[in-house]
Amino acid sequence: MKTTFYRELTDISLSDKPISDAVCERLLTAQDVELLPLLNAAYQVRKTYFQNEVQLHILNNAQNGYCPEDCGYCAQANTATTDIDAYPLKPDAEILEEAKRAYESGAYRYCIVMSGRGPSPKRVAHLAELIHTVKTHYPIEVCLSAGLIDVESARVLKSAGLDRLNHNLNTSETHYPKICSTHTYQDRMETLQAAQTVGLACCSGVIVGMGESTDDIIKVAKALRQLEVASLPVNFFLPITGTQLSAFVPTEPSVPTSLTPDYCLRVLCLFRFLNPRAEIRVAAGREHHLRSMEVMALYPANSMFVDGYLNAEGSEASRTIEMIRDAGFTIKTNEDTTTQRNLKDAEKRDVLLKDLKVLRPRMESNA
Ligand code: SF4
Repeated sequence: MKTTFYRELTDISLSDKPISDAVCERLLTAQDVELLPLLNAAYQVRKTYFQNEVQLHILNNAQNGYCPEDCGYCAQANTATTDIDAYPLKPDAEILEEAKRAYESGAYRYCIVMSGRGPSPKRVAHLAELIHTVKTHYPIEVCLSAGLIDVESARVLKSAGLDRLNHNLNTSETHYPKICSTHTYQDRMETLQAAQTVGLACCSGVIVGMGESTDDIIKVAKALRQLEVASLPVNFFLPITGTQLSAFVPTEPSVPTSLTPDYCLRVLCLFRFLNPRAEIRVAAGREHHLRSMEVMALYPANSMFVDGYLNAEGSEASRTIEMIRDAGFTIKTNEDTTTQRNLKDAEKRDVLLKDLKVLRPRMESNA
């Protein structure tokens, strides 16, 4: 492929124009579109908006299990037989202590994640109080993932100081009924629209590898572009034993049969070109599916989780931080100078974030 092809991709993206579906498809599948020039083209876009910085996120699984929904990828779904450590909402003191540790360890953002279809007004009021307390004590960005939310709830949370609401679209509208039957793509879209109505920034992303076609990926990437989401996590599907989708075998020829490092990186480039200003986070599955190519994800993506995910084990924080630095990227921390000193001190890397391993249950994927 001529070098002008890659340069044009960067130029189109930087001029905020969409890329045609046909070109998107080529990025994902055509062998003559080479990976390294493609990554470099995506990196030019990433560098324009985020320089060489990487934002680190820490998840607090504040409530695990007890979910009435049937999302086929999720170990907390009512249809999953996975042996998870289910628990109701953690006590306030525990959530606040974890926020403190996230702040002191230098995380830029603290994500509170709750299972369930969506919170009651009483639960929303409780969460608002918690968020207000966290924001009063620690200058850390707070993101909440609590299921389906209406405009009134979004307003209460915004007034409490919430910075972002997370609600993933996960896949295209067409593919959605194949991964969940208890709520719809439209339900999820309405939650994001409610957040936007009250001026809350949205975090919404995808899970790649749930049997969708490349066309589904292009569609959801363009839907997120239309929403102008501030943050876009790209998860790569980890089949967890006991979930409905864990035994999934693609049957259609257009569906990639497995997630290769090459394909995952192309997906990240596609999301970067179509969402040039979004904080793109390479999320669950990065260690497993990108393998030795993991560090290359930093060229299209500018954000990562450290120390694990909701129901799957991630790489150790110290290894992630070392990888980021070895590749010449810098870590964006909260503004506390003590914290920055901690992050700069290579000798302390083994203790960094160590205590946060208790934040969530660990489960081995069977992949
Ligand atoms: S993804 Fe959320 S809504 Fe769906 S089953 Fe899991 S916890 Fe419930």
